Amino acid sequence: MTQGSVVVVGSANVDLVVEVPRHPKGGETILGGDLRRTPGGKGANQAVAAARAGGADTTFAGALGTDESAGLLLASLERAGVRTDQVSRVDAPTGTALITVSPDGENAIVVAPGANARLELTPGHVQRIAHADVVLAQLEIPLDVVRAAAAARRPGAVMALNAAPSRDLPADVWNALDLLIVNEYEAADLAQTRGGPGELAAVLLERVPAVVITLGAEGSLVAERGREPVRVPGIRVEAVDTTGAGDTFCGVLAAALARGQALPEAARRAGVAAALAVTRPGAQDAVPAAAEVEEAS
Ligand code: ADP
Repeated sequence: MTQGSVVVVGSANVDLVVEVPRHPKGGETILGGDLRRTPGGKGANQAVAAARAGGADTTFAGALGTDESAGLLLASLERAGVRTDQVSRVDAPTGTALITVSPDGENAIVVAPGANARLELTPGHVQRIAHADVVLAQLEIPLDVVRAAAAARRPGAVMALNAAPSRDLPADVWNALDLLIVNEYEAADLAQTRGGPGELAAVLLERVPAVVITLGAEGSLVAERGREPVRVPGIRVEAVDTTGAGDTFCGVLAAALARGQALPEAARRAGVAAALAVTRPGAQDAVPAAAEVEEAS
């Protein structure tokens, strides 16, 4: 297997999760279950998925505080084999997501970005990005960092953006992208229209050369300029917890592209990994190892 390299530029959050009988109203206090404290954040989740996918040297470029939460996140990244030498330590609390989960599985989430909002690219980050085959970012960090990451990539490298959470993108960011990865809701927001995945992809292809739209249990749609769109079918599984499915998909896709796979092939592999991830609780803890993905493919 050829070794490629991925740099994930993004957020890291500690997820504080409590199961509740129902979500509290303003001014109300309710009792929930035991607190779970797990490593999360789109950037860190995607870096873990890319590293666990195998065959791609993976660096996480992000910012953590100097508190106890930072240690939990670093340990999870390192356990997965992610390079953490480009993690900045800043004078702000590590990003934290406060999550309540009701019995019907609905989440209510407040994110305190903390260190993630202070992320700036250092010369070290820029140098690592300049050697990467695939640079993967999301939108839980300042847009200026996404711009700077795109500007730092070498010619021929892939600048991929998972445009989540959804927000408007200025023209210069659109122009800097090689690949957009979005779920159906984000695709509709960015395309500023409703319609099936094929129609949304056609609109988005006017702005970016390649688009992958993830479709939950239905798999994904791969659309590239000048080619017929490819529908990648979903893998039937017993869903336990869909947290981080999209992140697993993005990280594994990036690793497969870095190893030289074509986009439809990479999306197929990413779909298998993401389907395995939804059969387990948690985000980073649910990411399958390369051998498990191989076996299920
Ligand atoms: P997000 O988690 O970002 O909303 P999706 O729900 O589209 O994104 O899920 C991302 C990917 O995870 C899908 O393309 C699919 O490969 C996989 N996936 C998600 N939910 C399921 C499911 N219930 N069964 C099988 N695969 C799933």
